[in-house]
Amino acid sequence: TTSRSNAIIEQTDHYGAHNYHPLPIVISEAQGVWVKDPEGNTYMDMLSAYSALNQGHRHPKIIEALKKQADKVTLTSRAFHNEILGPWTKRVAELTGKDKVLPMNTGVEAVETAIKAARRWAYEVKGVEDNKAEVIAAKGNFHGRSINSVSLSDDPSATKNYGPFVPGIEKIEFGNAEAVRAAITPNTAAVIVEPIQGEAGIIIPPKGYLKAVREICSENNVLFIADEVQTGFARTGKMFACEWESVVPDIYVMGKALGGGIFPVSAIAANKEIMDVFTPGSHGSTFGGNPLACAVSLAAIEVIEDENLVEKSLKLGEYFATALRAINNPDLKEVRGRGLFIGVEFEKPVRSYCEQLKEEGVLCKETHENTIRFAPPLVIKQEDLDWAIEKISKVLSN
Ligand code: PMP
Repeated sequence: TTSRSNAIIEQTDHYGAHNYHPLPIVISEAQGVWVKDPEGNTYMDMLSAYSALNQGHRHPKIIEALKKQADKVTLTSRAFHNEILGPWTKRVAELTGKDKVLPMNTGVEAVETAIKAARRWAYEVKGVEDNKAEVIAAKGNFHGRSINSVSLSDDPSATKNYGPFVPGIEKIEFGNAEAVRAAITPNTAAVIVEPIQGEAGIIIPPKGYLKAVREICSENNVLFIADEVQTGFARTGKMFACEWESVVPDIYVMGKALGGGIFPVSAIAANKEIMDVFTPGSHGSTFGGNPLACAVSLAAIEVIEDENLVEKSLKLGEYFATALRAINNPDLKEVRGRGLFIGVEFEKPVRSYCEQLKEEGVLCKETHENTIRFAPPLVIKQEDLDWAIEKISKVLSN
């Protein structure tokens, strides 16, 4: 056909690299949970840009903060101070209960920053011999696309032909705390885990896992790094998913919804004895902590609190999961999730379900082949969720 959407998709396919497999839809306008294509069709966003849009598309308060800051100053780089980095670091420090915050931009940069902090800490505080520091990661993880992050990965589609990889990484089974204990050596700097594995298909570890890993790390003088890039900021019905087991990591890694779905904002938070390993010149980012990012992020955090998105995610998540569990389909294997972070796993590929749901006005995406992720913006209204549940139940019943 000659629709505007098709022309846009063709051009993107022609000039753009094929590093993603998007559904054939162009989004040209958005507000809250709703998006529109150039033809004027309306859809509900059930992916939230992989949980970066917890506050919904174009939240008016965040847009206002963006515009206000844009009229003052947008970038100083860290060569100079700006007025808003101080208030923002204070806010994120309070939120995480940590002494200090280091701003970056994307999630993967925050992961890099956490690993760099852990390595320096291992040499300068723990006393590990030069160049011997090790990091333990969980199989099935997704920590981003840099060489270091793919070195942490065991997913062939993410790692194939990108070697040589970063040495000193041990990959162990996710969900098995004893495997962590067994993998620790005197040179281990840190264990990095997602409290719930997102890209792996919303994999919740067995009860007690995070607590046990926390204890094993403490006993062995190893840092516990929680990658909360996708699970943080109310997505799972807690501000951070570590709270599901009352666990406090040594380093929080944050991104996505920290920027309210409007601006890339990421950070790590940790106490002084870790963060002080960074000295001038040892780490940085031109855009990290820029005034626009800080202004947007302050508003993004405010929206989570003002609109009780933690409680809302928990309550609506339970309601949604219950509705999904009631779907009658012999190929439906499992509905799992916490808050509005839900995976529905089938015994077969689910791409065609996502395509059918798109026709019904619900946008979602498969994770690996067999799991559909449902993660709407947390600002979703009950009536809108009910509308979506009706469509989803119909499509997934066949
Ligand atoms: N960590 C986790 C747990 C993630 O889910 C993601 C993104 N899906 C990242 C890191 C990387 O974030 P970004 O794409 O912003 O680099």
